[in-house]
Amino acid sequence: MIPYSRQQVSAQDVESVCQALRSEFLTQGPRVTQFQDALATYCGVKHCLAVSNATAALHLACLAVDVGPGDLVLTSPITFVASANCALYCGADIDFVDIDSGTFCLDPQKLEDKLRDYRQRGTKVKAVIAVHFAGQSCDMKALRALANDYQFSLIEDASHALGARYHDITVGSCQYSDITVFSFHPVKMITTGEGGALLTNSDEVNSKVKRLASHGLVREPAQFMPFPEPDWFAEWAYQQQELGFNYRITDIQCALGLSQLTKLDEWVLARNQLAEHYRSLLEHHPIEWQEVRQNCISSFHLMVVLLPRSISRRTVFLRMRDAGFGVNIHYIPVHTQPYYLRLGFALGDFPVAEDYYRRCLSLPLFPDLQPQEVQEICANLIECCDER
Ligand SMILES: *Cc1c(COP(=O)(O)O)cnc(C)c1O
Repeated sequence: MIPYSRQQVSAQDVESVCQALRSEFLTQGPRVTQFQDALATYCGVKHCLAVSNATAALHLACLAVDVGPGDLVLTSPITFVASANCALYCGADIDFVDIDSGTFCLDPQKLEDKLRDYRQRGTKVKAVIAVHFAGQSCDMKALRALANDYQFSLIEDASHALGARYHDITVGSCQYSDITVFSFHPVKMITTGEGGALLTNSDEVNSKVKRLASHGLVREPAQFMPFPEPDWFAEWAYQQQELGFNYRITDIQCALGLSQLTKLDEWVLARNQLAEHYRSLLEHHPIEWQEVRQNCISSFHLMVVLLPRSISRRTVFLRMRDAGFGVNIHYIPVHTQPYYLRLGFALGDFPVAEDYYRRCLSLPLFPDLQPQEVQEICANLIECCDER
């Protein structure tokens, strides 16, 4: 079976991890710092915190912009559940904004309509989580303008978009946002096994998320709160001043991440070439694909196509799988998950997302997928679509 996505681990990656294993530190050693610095430099951002996974990073991001009980957070329904769950972890309420039918990202016009609606009802939106779907950046200039207007925090869920570009900036620079989050799960652009990162230009956000990622502990005596008995908290001490978590990543993982990062640009290019190959082969057939916005470079985490409404997506899915092509579906609209239905959402709430979901199919895409395999996948897909 050709999977929809697959990590690439080289001999150099293995060597890098082995060096970490033989070193003095297995966690919180020099490789964590090196990986954070390398990511920050790559993205052109001031601070980077590497953590245990992107879900943890999204949770920290919400806490860092003070999302709490009673607050309202908005995101796209076409994403992995983690983009919405992070708001619920903080006790906040979540609502969704329907997607654009061409880019499959949150539609800025519909966001504006929703913001205006909420404002009229006297409800303030605390944060918006913009998901760069399949590696295509959201329209960040439009979202920034709305964030200024409506005074919400803007968080980029760039789990798909490491290596992508928006106009003249690299995704992760946080030029238009407060925080950007990446995932290093094996299906994503680069991997650390499990892993994630949180990037920001804000010193305040950075010190807050660093503390929260490690139990909320303070270790610098100068920052200790006074205590009745002198020397109770002295040089050896740590103080817990707030409730945090253990969201740390290890040196072993960062050794892999550092080595993987050296391949990123090459992989983005390979994915773009493969996507172009797919498009050229599917061009004259009734199959649609994601629009890549002008002045943007997608990282092409996913190659999503939309099948004609007249054919059964399930039949195509099963026939492709039977033929050995590991097609997949990204994503089941979050608002239709049973947990979210219990919160009051219903089928019909976000019609563009639901129509997208009924028709979408992710075709295999990873850097060492062969052009010959792309041809076989397309030939099979076209046959499935023609036969009905
Ligand atoms: C993968 C993914 C996540 C979660 O990433 P983890 O590192 O597995 O926690 C969050 N959001 C999106 C859009 C993702 O694709």
